[in-house]
Amino acid sequence: MKCKFEECDKPAKGLGLCTSHYSQQRRGHELTPLRGYNRSPYKDENGKVCTKCNEYRKWDEFYDNPKTTDKKHSRCSVCWPRYPRKLTT
Ligand SMILES: [Zn+2]
Ligand SMILES: [Zn+2]
Repeated sequence: MKCKFEECDKPAKGLGLCTSHYSQQRRGHELTPLRGYNRSPYKDENGKVCTKCNEYRKWDEFYDNPKTTDKKHSRCSVCWPRYPRKLTT
């Protein structure tokens, strides 16, 4: 089981969170991406690289996530099984 924080792929320890995010939560902090761990591979004004498939994609291929600094999920909509991609056919 992985940490339930969206940008985190570390193994979960307590409450579904990894040790780092668990301690953030215990201290009453807002959960934040872990520095050093969550490096974004590539990003520019038109889009970024998905952390899952490592494909460069446009911003509108990423779902909104107000919790992150760029307001987008780190994984693209194709790699995000919770929200199957809408096909415009
Ligand atoms: Zn975590
Ligand atoms: Zn992807």
